[in-house]
Amino acid sequence: MIPNWLIQRAYLTPNKIALSFKNETWTFAQFKEQAVTRAQKLRANGFRQGDRIALLGPSTAEMVFIIHACMLADLEIVMLNSRLTNEELKYQLDDSDASALLVSDELNKRIKGTNVRILPFSSINKSEVVPFDIQDSWQADRTITIMYTSGTTGFPKGVRQTAGNHVSSALSSVLNLGLDENDVWLCTMPLFHISGFSILVRSVLYGMEVRLYEKFDASLVADEIQKGTVTRMSVVSHTLDKVMQELEKRDAIAHTTFKTMLAGGGPVPIDYLKRATELQIPILQTYGMTETSSQTATLSAADALRKMGSAGKPLFFNHIKINGIQNSGDKGEVYIRGPHVTPGYIGRFSDKTPLVDGWLPTGDIGYLDEEGYLYIVDRRSDLIISGGENIYPAEIENVLFAHPGIRDAGVCGQEHPDWGSVPIAFVVASDGVTEEELAAHCEGRLARYKMPKKFRFVDELPRNASNKLLRRELKLWVDSE
Ligand code: ATP
Ligand code: MG
Repeated sequence: MIPNWLIQRAYLTPNKIALSFKNETWTFAQFKEQAVTRAQKLRANGFRQGDRIALLGPSTAEMVFIIHACMLADLEIVMLNSRLTNEELKYQLDDSDASALLVSDELNKRIKGTNVRILPFSSINKSEVVPFDIQDSWQADRTITIMYTSGTTGFPKGVRQTAGNHVSSALSSVLNLGLDENDVWLCTMPLFHISGFSILVRSVLYGMEVRLYEKFDASLVADEIQKGTVTRMSVVSHTLDKVMQELEKRDAIAHTTFKTMLAGGGPVPIDYLKRATELQIPILQTYGMTETSSQTATLSAADALRKMGSAGKPLFFNHIKINGIQNSGDKGEVYIRGPHVTPGYIGRFSDKTPLVDGWLPTGDIGYLDEEGYLYIVDRRSDLIISGGENIYPAEIENVLFAHPGIRDAGVCGQEHPDWGSVPIAFVVASDGVTEEELAAHCEGRLARYKMPKKFRFVDELPRNASNKLLRRELKLWVDSE
């Protein structure tokens, strides 16, 4: 059994700050009060233990209270991504079979043409209060959240994340990062994504303050980091770049109390790691997925330069292997095992067993070096096989990113009569950058067979709601040429 997170936390450290948003702060005791009232109002709306509801809202204090209210009311929460289109939202509502949609008033108008019962936050708040017995503990296998994968390689899959998954993830994280009494985690990551949600879990488990922002704002974030008003933050490479640009513009560096910039969701370009060192931002590269409720492996800041580009070692409770590979350095599919791994999917993928002999195949290609550090190379599905040689698009993209005139880059394969497939590069470049210049930049940095056969200049690359590059769409562009 696992203690009910918020009830236990509010009992242990009622007067510690739990949350700050804009100019307001709440202690854990006040936070609990907010969540309990809303849970009682959810009861008034007919929701019962084990019901599955979907939740759509911005990253506000109200949203955090509702999330905790749903947990207190023993509901399974399908976390919907507010950046999705109406069609994508409808797909997830339908696929998850949620009995109702709880939605913030501002996002309510986004939902059209669905039969699901819709309950705006304002009508929840207007409901009466129906007191009920809040459980003081939970079964470890209780589903807390259902999150859809980003849909980078295909249809988004609804992943079950249990209380046990979230707890082991938060515990592994703190065993690795440590905890300071004054820690404040800056959350600008979406709460519907595991990167943001896991910050909320850490907060109640550790008794740590979350500083919440509704939207990422590079200038405000740079202020916090420069002044040392927050000690940890989670980013993806795109937001990291924006924060660094802001600090660079100010000729400023991070405050000495700023300890952790947890960078995940995808590879961090090596060039960014070098800039972060200059700015004294301790970058901890991390590798995880929706199916592992956040981090599986993390690289310590101390190793950031020595093990440039690595996602580090597995966290304490986790294991990583490269399937079928004996020798360190050989590439293969990354397999993960541990208490943080999902018990399975829901909806259209509910028949798909996530595990093979107890291990989760990730669909990612990687290798472990001789010291056991993990390197993620690329997605298995994006591999380009050219004349029998394996080419990983990410390697070529990394080389392109190192060119000062390149703002974004994406590589995919194009069928070729002699080689099977050859790499084609799509770039978003500053004015004046030429194909010849890019070819010259790549020569010497890439083996001949990895050289892009064409460079296509575009205004924007196809990215999904998580800002991940959709190479399958690049392939469609190539095929339509
Ligand atoms: P889908 O499963 O629907 O195709 P997705 O895999 O992008 O979408 P997520 O669960 O959000 O959905 O993302 C997990 C994936 O992100 C990992 O499998 C991996 O490909 C990528 N990723 C995460 N962290 C890193 C990292 N540090 N380096 C490289 N890739 C990473
Ligand atoms: Mg995936």
